[in-house]
Amino acid sequence: MAGIPLVDLKAQYQTIKDDIDEAVARIIANTSFIGGKDLKAFEEAFAEYQGVDYVVGVGSGTAALFLALKALGIGPGDEVITQANTFFATVEAIEQVGATPVLVDIDPETYNMDPDLIEAAITSATKVILPVHLYGQIAPMDRIMEIARKHNLKVVEDSAQAHGAELNGKRAGQWGDIACFSFYPGKNLGAYGDGGAVATNDAELAKRALILRDHGSESKYVHDIVGYCERLDTLQAAVLAVKLPHLDGWNAARREKAAYYNEALKDVPGVVTPVEAEGSVPVYHIYCVRVPGDRDAIRQTLNDRGIGAGIHYPIPIHLQPGVSGRGWVKGEFPETEAAAESILSLPIYAELTEAQMDEVVKALRECIEVPVA
Ligand SMILES: *Cc1c(COP(=O)(O)O)cnc(C)c1O
Repeated sequence: MAGIPLVDLKAQYQTIKDDIDEAVARIIANTSFIGGKDLKAFEEAFAEYQGVDYVVGVGSGTAALFLALKALGIGPGDEVITQANTFFATVEAIEQVGATPVLVDIDPETYNMDPDLIEAAITSATKVILPVHLYGQIAPMDRIMEIARKHNLKVVEDSAQAHGAELNGKRAGQWGDIACFSFYPGKNLGAYGDGGAVATNDAELAKRALILRDHGSESKYVHDIVGYCERLDTLQAAVLAVKLPHLDGWNAARREKAAYYNEALKDVPGVVTPVEAEGSVPVYHIYCVRVPGDRDAIRQTLNDRGIGAGIHYPIPIHLQPGVSGRGWVKGEFPETEAAAESILSLPIYAELTEAQMDEVVKALRECIEVPVA
């Protein structure tokens, strides 16, 4: 069988091959691998797309989160509130700056941070709220900003899954103090290697990120502070510049695929399809459903049939061995735990065909409607 991957980067490459090949060849011919006008051109284009004043390209989405927190001056003794259901990097960055991650549970419908739980998590040490626009849907930023203003907190948006997503007509990075993007290859806007960016309207924050990413230096060989080596390399910037004009089209296609799945799955007993919050235009980085019964067995059956079903994420943050020192216990974040046991991500990408989606739906239907003897 042909197989239907979770995301098909080869299919995407075939649609933009000539432009990508030309861009990569040009950078290599120029040997302008670090910095230069191609990096600047992409940063400016992405700032315009995102509707913010400044974009600073960095080495990865994780570096973006780390440098954003650093630029805000967050460190030991500070608490950062984020959610229990996210990719590990969100919490890793908080740990890397020496701050303390404080988790809240998720809204079981959207999987985003539950804003009703934030205020109870705020202490005198809280400095930042760090919502994740999970699966490509913007978190309830109107509520989150209201709470942040009331308590005088900074807001960092983890936008790694949400390039182009909107809530009430506003994109990520237009809400909080600074937004962090990943250009990991499988993201909605993905490089051909690692990459990331911070986006902000705050000139001072942008300048600090710029200095921090490049050895604490603003002008060559003058190092004002001890920084990091976390630049977005120029080959990646050139690839991203080719891809950016396609992003809206790819996102629209993902939304169409999501709608097709929603319709096809609506009468499968026990399957819960994604919920779009009011005013929200998600970009479906992940198309996540809940399935009844033995989720792991269902996933295995799909995988055996060549369908790349995944789980985002199987182990909640508070149960990860790497942060066991934080003393979180099982049962603490029940909605996150319940989700982790029943969620299943189905293949989604712009080039996915209706025939492929029909095959995915048929296979899933068979897993659920025909009980295992
Ligand atoms: C991918 C991702 C990151 C990390 O990005 P990298 O580029 O892989 O470092 C952070 N947060 C979330 C929610 C992500 O999905």
